[in-house]
Amino acid sequence: MRNLLLHACCAPCAVMPATLFRQREAHSPGASMALAFINPNIQPRDEHRLRREVFAAWAAQEGHRVLEGHDGSQEDFASWEKAVAPVAEAALAANANNQTADERARENRCRLCYRLRFEQLAAAAAREGFDAIATTLTISPYQLADVIEQELVAAAMRHGVTACFEDYRPWYAQSVSASRELGMYRQNYCGCRYSKAEADKARAARKAARAQEREKKRALKQEQGQEQEQGQTALSETRPSGWMPC
Ligand code: SF4
Repeated sequence: MRNLLLHACCAPCAVMPATLFRQREAHSPGASMALAFINPNIQPRDEHRLRREVFAAWAAQEGHRVLEGHDGSQEDFASWEKAVAPVAEAALAANANNQTADERARENRCRLCYRLRFEQLAAAAAREGFDAIATTLTISPYQLADVIEQELVAAAMRHGVTACFEDYRPWYAQSVSASRELGMYRQNYCGCRYSKAEADKARAARKAARAQEREKKRALKQEQGQEQEQGQTALSETRPSGWMPC
């Protein structure tokens, strides 16, 4: 028997893991699952409110049990600022501006962010009588699955519960289409202000690259047009008078 508390990072990511747990529950007598939205990383507050509301509406519609009261207070947001933001700020101040350093800085930041959320998850699980914890985060190919596993296991051990780690990435495409079919809001950045800035920067770079590509094609087309025109002029200058094309 397993009484599982599943951390939901957002509704679109929770759809497939919750479906899988429910299917498995059906073959495992006595097993049960509840969801917990523990995400003090989501900024700004309006975005947090929106993702939480989308999650709550979906969970209610699906009849999922939700463990309430573990996210959204001033203290929750402050806990993230205290545990994670200083590391992100230090990385920005170092301004290494090279890919390896950026990736390392992101891993450090995300590790602390996972640690904080799983700590709150595992503490809530132990307090509320759950015997296992899991997370929906691994459905996203943008998350760091290895780091998630390490932090989930460590949090579970600290609180005497079991970590049910699973890599849900094989269900990512299915989760995208399922959430679209349900008309869910799908955010375009992970959650914190740093991830928003990174996502905005990446989108701007992709947009600039597309504009550059279009400009290259336009210039090439113009060049080809000019060459064709010059060729025709040269040909007409070499034609004898009275020459008629056949
Ligand atoms: S990118 Fe996502 S996981 Fe990483 S620190 Fe920001 S909110 Fe947390």
